[in-house]
Amino acid sequence: MPKANPRHPKFPIPGGPELRAKGWRQEALLRLLENVLSVGEDPDNLIVYAALGKAARSWAAHKGIVKALTEMEEDQTLLIQSGKPIGLVKTHAKAPLVIMANCNIVGQWAEAEVFYELQRKGLICWGGLTAGAWQYIGSQGVIQGTYEIFMRIAERRFGGDLAGRFVLTAGLGGMGGAQPLAGRMAGAAILCVDIDPERARKRQQIGYLQEIAPDLDTALEMIDAAVKDRRALSVGLVGNAAEVYPEIARRGIVPDIVTDQTSAHDLVYGYVPKGMSLDQVRELRDDGQGQLMAASRASIVEHVTAMLDFQKRGSEVFDNGNLIRTQAKEGGVSNAFDIPIFTEAYLRPLFARAIGPFRWMALSGEESDIARIDDLLLELFPDNKIITNWIRLAREHVPFEGLPARIAWLGHGERTMLARRVNALVAGGELKGPVAFSRDHLDAGAMAHPNIMTERMKDGSDAIADWPLIDAMMLCSSMADLVVVHSGGGGYAGYMTSCGVTVIADGTDAADERLDHALTNDTALGVMRYADAGYEEALDEVTKKDVPYIRLD
Ligand code: NAD
Repeated sequence: MPKANPRHPKFPIPGGPELRAKGWRQEALLRLLENVLSVGEDPDNLIVYAALGKAARSWAAHKGIVKALTEMEEDQTLLIQSGKPIGLVKTHAKAPLVIMANCNIVGQWAEAEVFYELQRKGLICWGGLTAGAWQYIGSQGVIQGTYEIFMRIAERRFGGDLAGRFVLTAGLGGMGGAQPLAGRMAGAAILCVDIDPERARKRQQIGYLQEIAPDLDTALEMIDAAVKDRRALSVGLVGNAAEVYPEIARRGIVPDIVTDQTSAHDLVYGYVPKGMSLDQVRELRDDGQGQLMAASRASIVEHVTAMLDFQKRGSEVFDNGNLIRTQAKEGGVSNAFDIPIFTEAYLRPLFARAIGPFRWMALSGEESDIARIDDLLLELFPDNKIITNWIRLAREHVPFEGLPARIAWLGHGERTMLARRVNALVAGGELKGPVAFSRDHLDAGAMAHPNIMTERMKDGSDAIADWPLIDAMMLCSSMADLVVVHSGGGGYAGYMTSCGVTVIADGTDAADERLDHALTNDTALGVMRYADAGYEEALDEVTKKDVPYIRLD
C-alpha cells in the first residue's frame, strides 16, 4: 500500500507487497521513479533537486515510462533518452531492464545556452546525478559525505569535533538541506542562509533544521550563544548569501568553516541574484535569460569575494560541489580557485580506495527493513570506525523521507558483501520486501568532473571522461538492473560526465549473481581509476584486495 505524503499529497510514497509490474525487478524501478518524485523539490514540474534535475522529460514521457515498466517482461530492456522512453527492445533476462543516456551534448556544443534552447524545444532534460536515474533519496543522499567533510576538518584543525565552532553556509534545497543536520551531527553551531523561506520551512518540517531566525542579528546571537556553550545548533536565515556573507565579514566576524550549496551552477534556474525577488527571477527565466545570467554572476562575484575574505582571515573555506568558484572566475575573480574543492581537500583518500556514497532503499516502504540492515552492517563491519560511528549517528538523527533508505560509505568488496547478505535476508523472509542498491554518481570510477570530482588528479587526467563510459558499458555486461550515463545540463553543461547504477536484491539466485558482478566490478573500476592515476591508497587496495588491475612494466 502506498503511504500518504504530507509534503506532496499528490505523490504518495510507494510500498507494500502488491506488484503492478510483471516482476519485482520492474516493480522496483517503478517504485524508485515514484520515490524520487515523492521526495523531490517540485514534483508537479518533475523537478527532483539541483534546480533543474528532472525525473523525466515531460508528463507524457513519464506516462510512457510507467506504462513500459508495468508491461515489460524480464527479457526486455527499456531505452530512455534524456528522460523520454524511446523503445522497448528484446534482450535477455540477465540484461539491464533500463538503459538511459541523459543530457549528453557533443563537446563543442555543451554550453548552458545550447542546453536551455534544447530544453525549450523539449528535446532534452537534465537528470542531475540521481534525479533522472531515479536514485535520489532526499537530503540523506549527501548527508554522510557532508558530515565526513566536517569531521575531516575537525580532525585537522579543531581537535576532533566541532563543538564550539561556527559553520557558515547557504542553500537549503534538495541536497544543501543536508548541511544543517550534518553540521549538528558534527557538534557545530551552523548558520544556513537561503533566499526562499519555503525551503527553510521544509527543512525544518522534516527535521533537518532546528531553528529559523527572524533576522541576521538574532541569527548571529543564537550562533554566538551556542558556540559559547559548545552546543550543537542549526539555524536557518532567510536572505541572500551575496548580501549576508559580505555583511558578516564587514562586522569582523570570522566563522571557523565557510562553504556554500546554493544552486550556483545554474545562473538562470538556480542562483538568485541579490536585490531580486523570487517572482522577478521566475519572470526573467522566460524572457530575460541574458540579464539574469549577468545579475547572478555579479552576485556570485560578491559572494565568493566574501568567502575569500573569510579564508584570508583564517576560516576553513571550501567549495561544496556547486561550481561557485568557476562562475566567480568567469566573472573576474582570478583567485577564486584559492578555495579548494571538497573532494581533493578532504575525501580523495577514501575515493582512492573506492570508498564512496553507497545507498539502499527498502522497497517494502518499511522502516524496520532499514533497521535490520543497520544491524547487519554493524555485525559485518565492527572494526570500521567510519561505518559504526555513522550508523549510530544516522539512527539517532536522520529522519526518513520517502522510501526508507540508508547511505553508508563502503568500499570494494564491502558493498558486495552487504548486498548479497541483504539478498539472503530477503530470500529468508527476514525483510518485508526487496531492497534496491545504488550509489551516488560522485563515486570513484563513475565520474569525470574536472571542477569537482577529478580536480587536480595526480596524473593530470581530470578531464578524461572514458572512465564513466567504461563503467556504464561494464555494468551493462555485469547484469545491473539500471545503467545510466549522464552529462551536465544548465550551468553544468560541458563540465561533467557520470555513470549511475541500480541493482535490485529480490531474494533470488539471479539477484545474487547480479549484485556480485555489478557491485564488485563497479568498485574494482573505482580502485583501477585511482591506481592508474598513481594514488598509493589505490595501489595498496589493488594488492590487498586482489583487484584485477593490469599494471604495465
Ligand atoms: P536546489 O536547487 O534544490 O537548492 C538550492 C537552494 O539555493 C534553493 O533553496 C535556493 O533558494 C537557494 N539559493 C539560490 N540562490 C541563493 C542565494 N543567492 N542566496 C541564498 N540562497 C540561494 O539545489 P540542491 O539540490 O540543494 O543543490 C545545491 C547545489 O549543490 C547544486 O549546485 C548542486 O548541483 C550541488 N550539489 C553538490 C553535491 C556534492 O557533491 N557536494 C551534491 C549534490 C548537489
